[in-house]
Amino acid sequence: MSEIFTGSFTQQEPIPEEGIAAALAVLRHGRLHRYNVAEGEVGETALLEQAFAALTGARYALAVASGGSAMTIALRAIGVQPGDPVLSNAFTLAPVPGAIAAVGARPVFVGVTEDLTIDLDDLETKLDQSRVLLLSHMRGHICDMDRLMALCDTAGVAVIEDCAHTMGAAWNDIPSGRHGLVGCYSCQTYKHANSGEGGFVVTDDAEIAARAIILSGSYMLYERHLAGPPADVFERVKYDTPNTSSRMDNLRAAILRPQLRDLEDRVARWNARYRTLEQGLRDTPGLTLIERPETEKFVGSSIQVLLLDWAAEGVADVVRRCALRGVELKWFGEAEPKGFTSRYDSWRYARSEQMPRSDRILAGILDMRVPLTFSLEDCELIARIIRAEVSAVYQSAA
Ligand SMILES: *Cc1c(COP(=O)(O)O)cnc(C)c1O
Repeated sequence: MSEIFTGSFTQQEPIPEEGIAAALAVLRHGRLHRYNVAEGEVGETALLEQAFAALTGARYALAVASGGSAMTIALRAIGVQPGDPVLSNAFTLAPVPGAIAAVGARPVFVGVTEDLTIDLDDLETKLDQSRVLLLSHMRGHICDMDRLMALCDTAGVAVIEDCAHTMGAAWNDIPSGRHGLVGCYSCQTYKHANSGEGGFVVTDDAEIAARAIILSGSYMLYERHLAGPPADVFERVKYDTPNTSSRMDNLRAAILRPQLRDLEDRVARWNARYRTLEQGLRDTPGLTLIERPETEKFVGSSIQVLLLDWAAEGVADVVRRCALRGVELKWFGEAEPKGFTSRYDSWRYARSEQMPRSDRILAGILDMRVPLTFSLEDCELIARIIRAEVSAVYQSAA
């Protein structure tokens, strides 16, 4: 009898008791809107922003409704206009090109390497096409940020970082989201802090921060922020910055605060699971692991492997056989996007040239979530199942 995994790939850990208690307090007093505070009270959302600024070392932090709205706000706050070209990853999640489209701008896609990071050689050839790069650290893979920033700085291209999978990660000891002009994060259930929906924007630039706060929907109540710039900066921008209503609320902020405090601990637990899976999959014939550079501090909340240059039927067979044994793999190479797996040529509102070198990589990407509810034994079992099924299909094709 072959082993079967019976756990859930979509089951998160519960919200910490302290977060539940704080959420109940908000529900009991009823002041859920972030600017609805009693005399002398500091709201949960303002406190959360203060904690997030401290966590990332950013001068300014803003909590918003989602990771997607964080990126949309960031693009607008740095002055992207309708029709502008914006460089971004060909391998990322749909809300990234979606944020570019939301401001009426036009994505220009940059390829992906076998390390699953942005192709810096391809980027170099495209830097003259835009003033802005919305860089996605897709699935937590961080490119050589020193080279990327040198390229972009030289070309005068502003960098916005999409850190949906790198909250708690770093490159060369600098937290992810702090290399570029603006960092954006998500607190959606499947990311590194869970409030159902939610996001953050961080920056050191006072004027960008002021615009972002007004864009998020502060009305003229921006002085209630604890991690925003001084009032005189708002005076310069308040009449020509629209309110695009994307606020965080006190209930979600209450849930998030203890999770930020525990982030380092959760990162360690994710990485123990990731390393267990990686160990179990190492040297599987036909399967390529993504080697993580020493300079990268990553968060192993998901794992990707490549079945490079496999026939599509072979990859489909592996996915099917693993599913029969309870292991859910997502495949980015499928003809039709499913679930979360769309890619640059699925986003037909944004015209693009075919990118054969990226297509080869995308065709081989298998992706798996690693929820913290998995034990290390679960991870060993899952690795055994993937290893066995990849080997079986690989040998039958040989
Ligand atoms: C989830 C995700 C986002 C956006 O997050 P939402 O909060 O769902 O809008 C952005 N980029 C990547 C790579 C993501 O995975």
